[in-house]
Amino acid sequence: MNKRKILMIGTGGTIASELGENGLVPELTSDQLLRYIPDISDICRVDCIQLFSLDSTNIMPGHWVQIARAVRERYRDYDGFVICHGTDTMAYTAAALSYLVQGSPKPIVFTGAQKPIGFETTDSKQNLRDAFTVAASDMAGVMLVFNGKVILGTRARKTRSKSFEAFSSINYPLLAMVQDGRLIRYIAPEHEEEPVFYDRLNHHVALLKLIPGLDCGAAAWLLENNDALIIESFGVGGLPAYEVGDYYETVKAGLDAGKTVVMTTQVENEGSDLSVYHVGAAVKRDLPVLEAYDMTTEAVTAKLMWILGQTGDPKQVAKMFYAPVANDILAFQ
Ligand code: ASP
Repeated sequence: MNKRKILMIGTGGTIASELGENGLVPELTSDQLLRYIPDISDICRVDCIQLFSLDSTNIMPGHWVQIARAVRERYRDYDGFVICHGTDTMAYTAAALSYLVQGSPKPIVFTGAQKPIGFETTDSKQNLRDAFTVAASDMAGVMLVFNGKVILGTRARKTRSKSFEAFSSINYPLLAMVQDGRLIRYIAPEHEEEPVFYDRLNHHVALLKLIPGLDCGAAAWLLENNDALIIESFGVGGLPAYEVGDYYETVKAGLDAGKTVVMTTQVENEGSDLSVYHVGAAVKRDLPVLEAYDMTTEAVTAKLMWILGQTGDPKQVAKMFYAPVANDILAFQ
């Protein structure tokens, strides 16, 4: 049987890093990474390209567009894609690709590692093998494969900074596991017959994490200098009203000026519900704020950049925000 043809896209990260004078630096190309796993030819045929060699701390929305473009330009020629990426912002990039490449019937798989591929103890080789196993399978859409877990691109979050079990799936089950090279599927992600590609993002999106006592001047500044503000508030959500300035009036002024405001929570699991407490209910009732519900902050960020890259009309923004893409929001399904 003809083995599936996979495109491996290198972008940098720990997986490709070597120890320099000032710590780890991404140096290896995807070709060089592939040489560490020669047995991958048992699973699939692989071509490699290198887009950039960055610590993912330096990844910008412009890089997301470049990755999506690289996939689009070669989409017909390959059965699947493996994108090697630093773990620190991989969840943001996986979310962004979920909006830039929608409905893909072919697998687009992100992976990386907590330890460089050249180190004696490393998770790199296993993560790569698992990523190729998924990329050469019938699974569809944007996914993140790490430590045997297969996570939907809109649901991933880095939840451990050092250990191999680095990623979790937030408010959504795992799609599959890879165990000893075998793919065990729990969910078959939905897809379209053909993907829809986008290439415009508006990166003027800001995030404010509330802490007790934070003056609302920070929110006012962020609203003035961006097109959208995500407010990570407490618990199921609300805005503080005493001593710290008037958040309600600040948010209202931003909305009146045509800005988008999304209320979300800094609690990792189960999402927001502004209607529960008086600190949130009046905000939701009286102001046209949007609410993230069960979406991750990574997905909210990328979705707003994608939406605001297509339209500035508040009604259209709200409609697109609540329309599920790649199962990013369950509240409206
Ligand atoms: N700082 C690295 C990066 O995100 C961490 C990693 O890849 O694990 O590029």
